[in-house]
Amino acid sequence: MHLIFVILHRIYFPQKENKNIVPVIITKEFRFEAAHYLPNMPEGHKCRRMHGHSFKIGVKVKGQPDAFSGIVMDFAEIKAIVKPLIEMLDHYVINEVGTENNSPLLQNPTSENLAKWFFESLKEKLPGLYSIEVYETCTSYCEYIP
Ligand SMILES: [Zn+2]
Repeated sequence: MHLIFVILHRIYFPQKENKNIVPVIITKEFRFEAAHYLPNMPEGHKCRRMHGHSFKIGVKVKGQPDAFSGIVMDFAEIKAIVKPLIEMLDHYVINEVGTENNSPLLQNPTSENLAKWFFESLKEKLPGLYSIEVYETCTSYCEYIP
């Protein structure tokens, strides 16, 4: 009887059941330097030429803080999971990394494709991964939210 009551209560009063469940999004930022060129941009476009960026990546994880620790996830844990990907790209020509790894997303390394590549590469290891931000410059960035 009690179980039926609980189920009906959850169906009719879902907000009340969830009033203490407030998810938060935490972000860990990473920086690396790399060169790239965008082979699919129009002839003569400046982004077709090889050039470099000081990239900034935002890795966002969504979850409910643990009742005891008060955290969603240890930032150091995110760092350990993401670091190998940063090391793959830092001070390399991203297009060449993509060719070596047969990764079409890195062979045309737009911010959009980089963000998708980071997300796809991390989603299995980072449950709760919400989105990836890729900053090419201080004022231009992409956020990939599947
Ligand atoms: Zn660029």
